[in-house]
Amino acid sequence: MDSQFLAELRQAATVRLSEPMSDHTTFGIGGPADAYAIAESEEQLQALVDVARFHAVPFFILGSGSNILVGDGGVRGLVIENRSGRVDEPIRQGNGSLLVRAQSGTSLAGLARRLSSTGLAGLEWACGIPGSLGGAVIYNAGAYGGCLADCLRSVRVANSSAEVTELAASELALGYRGSAFTRGVLQGKVVLSLDLILHQDASQALAARVAELDARRQAAQPRERNAGSIFKNTPEHPAWWLIEQVGLRGHRIGDAQISPKHTNFIVNCGHARASDVKALIALAQERVEERFGLRLEPEVTLVGEGFDG
Ligand SMILES: Cc1cc2nc3c(=O)[nH]c(=O)nc-3n(C[C@H](O)[C@H](O)[C@H](O)COP(=O)(O)OP(=O)(O)OC[C@H]3O[C@@H](n4cnc5c(N)ncnc54)[C@H](O)[C@@H]3O)c2cc1C
Repeated sequence: MDSQFLAELRQAATVRLSEPMSDHTTFGIGGPADAYAIAESEEQLQALVDVARFHAVPFFILGSGSNILVGDGGVRGLVIENRSGRVDEPIRQGNGSLLVRAQSGTSLAGLARRLSSTGLAGLEWACGIPGSLGGAVIYNAGAYGGCLADCLRSVRVANSSAEVTELAASELALGYRGSAFTRGVLQGKVVLSLDLILHQDASQALAARVAELDARRQAAQPRERNAGSIFKNTPEHPAWWLIEQVGLRGHRIGDAQISPKHTNFIVNCGHARASDVKALIALAQERVEERFGLRLEPEVTLVGEGFDG
């Protein structure tokens, strides 16, 4: 790696070389990143992106690593872990709703819990989703009938520290587990912060709703390491049902397994490799296509060497 690039990176943050991505993904899978830096603030995030762009080094923004499968060969270039987590005090709007600005490295579930405990409603559905707000925008994260689009007003996006644009939620093409960030127009842009619109409600009622959702999630989801739903549901059938129908419940390749508890989860039973997970993904796609003529589309993003995108 170019020494001038590394020297400038080190002025912006602590940098580790050949950092195993398996330490930074909920799957516990992934080879080394050439360089790995942690941004503790928005300014640091922008500075790191500026250095990478200036030196034309590819960079990858990592939130909580809860929706990615990183290849066994790792990631070339720079991985920037985004821990910018400032949340501003709510501002009351003319119609009585409350506007909360939070930086993109803020934990989605943490914020959902914190807001509901103070009587702010609108994000309870997210109390069990283990990602950052940045990752949540990219996929329009959602659960139990709610999704980010329901309470997102706008985002601030950076091209460079000198060029930050505010985009209304309506400009982000938020849809089922996707957005203009995944489908092209905004690909490669860095989300800095989100403005959320919430409303006041009784904290006791909100606490009861959070407890109910926690119980439902615990009953439905596996305990082993995973990256959430592996495939998007098709308009015709939920992905778990299709996988179940083709007889893959519990099917294992290496240490990767289609969860016996929930067939739309692939779990890491110990030392699974990305290639094992990828082989299970391909097998499920093949069998479902053969039997139902439907193509299962991965919900997780495949990142790094050995994968196309
Ligand atoms: C146990 C479990 C349960 C889950 N349940 C749900 C669920 O109910 N509903 C749901 O929708 N999802 C669920 N997920 C998936 C995941 O938590 C969400 O998709 C989450 O929003 C991903 O956020 P992240 O910060 O972990 O993103 P990462 O996995 O770190 O990154 C994902 C993508 O987003 C990009 N990205 C992240 N931050 C930024 C940023 N600031 N700017 C630009 N790009 C960025 C990354 O570059 C990458 O391409 C679950 C995952 C797990 C492990």
